[in-house]
Amino acid sequence: MPAVACPITDCDYVTDDLDATIVAALITAHSAVHIPKREHAAKVNYPLLCACSVALYCMYTSFMQVN
Ligand SMILES: [Zn+2]
Repeated sequence: MPAVACPITDCDYVTDDLDATIVAALITAHSAVHIPKREHAAKVNYPLLCACSVALYCMYTSFMQVN
């Protein structure tokens, strides 16, 4: 099977001239690069963690003030 280029615009990834099964596997594995899920998750989780830490800190300080 001839080399197959990544279908994503502006991506210059091209597989080697390999067996069709391997080329398909390479393209599939490479396509994960274009899935932005992890980036979004990291951006969403970080503020959530901060909010959680602030909430815990507030609970702790109010607990200390009461006692
Ligand atoms: Zn690509």
